[in-house]
Order: sequence, then structure tokens, then C-alpha cells
Amino acid sequence: MAKPKEGKMGSGERMHYSVGALIERDGKYLLIDRAVPPLGFAGVAGHVDEGEDAPQSLEREVKEESGLEINNYKLLFEEELDWNWCSKGVKSHYWYLFKCDVSGELERSKRETKSIGWYNGEEIKKLNLEPVWEYWFKKLNII
Ligand SMILES: [Zn+2]
Repeated sequence: MAKPKEGKMGSGERMHYSVGALIERDGKYLLIDRAVPPLGFAGVAGHVDEGEDAPQSLEREVKEESGLEINNYKLLFEEELDWNWCSKGVKSHYWYLFKCDVSGELERSKRETKSIGWYNGEEIKKLNLEPVWEYWFKKLNII
């Protein structure tokens, strides 16, 4: 079982590293309804595991959760979020958010997702979003 890479925040608190994939097609964004906490609608995301760099984690998570392949990616931003917890008991995460171009057929993870689909900004506003994705979508002026 892979182990999340661990680090320390500026404050000295334990943190994990995470990657998120912003995947857009024709004005719609790919979102999953998360089956594992934190719940809510979210982009494809996950931990950077020990021995991985962020682009490797990105490629792995996109494949695992959506079945898609990444053609290319661009880092939009990276930041420490001290309010973003995970089910492994760590309260802070250092995020890398990437914009990705993808190809392939959608095939969601049955374990990690309840559904997967494409949503435009107006639709996203009405969804119960996972807090970190609400934060990204607002930061990117999508909602
Ligand atoms: Zn974590």
C-alpha cells in the first residue's frame, strides 16, 4: 500500500502533499462525486505518495479515478492549505493544482467515486462541492 509523502508546514505542523486535476472540455469541468471523505463533488485529486513527484501522482490519480490519460499538463498554482484535512488524520495539505488535457474513455473508480461527469460553471454553483474544490473554482473565477 502506497504511503502519502509527509512534510511540515511553515508552522511546523504535519502535512501531506496533494495533486488536483482541473480537466476542462467545451466549457465543462470533469467532477467526481467522492465516495471517500471529504465528501462532495470534486475534481480528480489525491496524495503524492512517497517516491513520486507531483506529475507522476497526477498521472496515476487521473488514471485511477477517471480512466483517462493525460496528454499534457500545466501547473496553475501550488499552496499550503492549513484547513484541508484528509481521512488519514492529517489537517494540512500542500497542493499542486494542474490544468490537464486528457484523452480516452471515462471509466470511474467504483471504490473512490459515486459518479463522474462534466459540469459547467452554472451547474457547479448548485453542487455540494468538497471545500477545497469550492475554493479552487472561486479562485479561478469559474463559480
Ligand atoms: Zn492527506
